[in-house]
Amino acid sequence: PETITIQDLANRMAERAVDVIKLLMKQGQIHKITDTIDADTAQLVAEELGHTVRRVAEADVLEGLFDEPDLEEHLEPRPPVVTIMGHVDHGKTSLLDAIRKTDVVAGEAGGITQHIGAYQITTPSGAKITFIDTPGHAAFTAMRARGAKITDIVVLVVAADDGVMPQTVEAISHAKAAGVPMVVAINKMDKPDANPQRVRTELLQHNIQVESMGGDTLEFEVSALTGQGLDTLLEGLLLQAEVLDLKADPLRNAEGTVIEAKLDRGRGPVATVLVQRGLLEPGDIIVAGAEWGRVRALISDTGEMIEEAGPSYPAQVLGFNGTPDAGDRFAVVESEARAREITEYRARVKRERAAARASVNRGSLADMMR
Ligand code: GDP
Ligand code: MG
Repeated sequence: PETITIQDLANRMAERAVDVIKLLMKQGQIHKITDTIDADTAQLVAEELGHTVRRVAEADVLEGLFDEPDLEEHLEPRPPVVTIMGHVDHGKTSLLDAIRKTDVVAGEAGGITQHIGAYQITTPSGAKITFIDTPGHAAFTAMRARGAKITDIVVLVVAADDGVMPQTVEAISHAKAAGVPMVVAINKMDKPDANPQRVRTELLQHNIQVESMGGDTLEFEVSALTGQGLDTLLEGLLLQAEVLDLKADPLRNAEGTVIEAKLDRGRGPVATVLVQRGLLEPGDIIVAGAEWGRVRALISDTGEMIEEAGPSYPAQVLGFNGTPDAGDRFAVVESEARAREITEYRARVKRERAAARASVNRGSLADMMR
């Protein structure tokens, strides 16, 4: 049966919990603020306080939106999605740039000017890998907090001339908490004072045992500056991916996560999304957080218009009516009416939460002024 705590009910109505308790007391029920009451009682209380009640269960509104299991016979291998983490200045951005230049498909197209927060390369062996440029550990954590699991493998980059530093340790604990396998890239090997052995020993102190130390964490000595070791690193990532046996249904309605989104003057809201299952196509009706739209155009990581985006592909989506948030999960739905239902519900929940926060603040201010 549906229930709600007195505190929650008061918050939703932007009323004081004490008034709810008083009202219940008049009806002969003694409650404290943390008590739970049933939906019918809650409705009576709300109406008594002059509110209109509409009972909708979140489960009904969001039913079937995410996590419908894929059909086993539809599953196909998908490229790994990789995130690079590590201490500031150890070469995350340089590595991402250097890896992008190894792309055998886009490489010849010349200078890559666009930054869209994610890209996919084709390695010399013909395999594909998607790289996500999370703007820092905070973003990674925020996405995780929203239940968005976007990355299959973390590359921990450690500068060979600097060793394990505070954000290296932080990155290790993020990857561990997320349960994502890690591969170590010892960067800046071109530097005269590079000391990869020191890096290995320091990693061991944080329970990361690399292969050359008898462990099973893959390690690669690289230089983003000279390109040394990058091919081996990419092959290592593919090896790690093979172990993970990554698969998705490429046929169903697309689902995935918003990597970043902004309002563009000319083009309106532009969202970079990572498709995680299914096929995203122009014309699809897409919902992300409290926003929706009809996909007007899909743009690849090299700025070209594309006709579809499948599992592990990062694409820019034009056509949202508003700008979703980074970390929002997206899904394609069957109709505009359905999209409206979902986003209106979410917008209402968002408003209610804001109102509840405001009323809590008002309450405490009033308390202070007593
Ligand atoms: P991030 O903060 O981790 O993104 O690090 P950056 O990619 O911005 O690199 C920080 C500095 O290290 C820049 O000045 C880079 O040019 C330099 N750098 C990055 N990788 C290498 C490398 O492999 N060798 C050398 N010598 N310098 C590098
Ligand atoms: Mg950087």
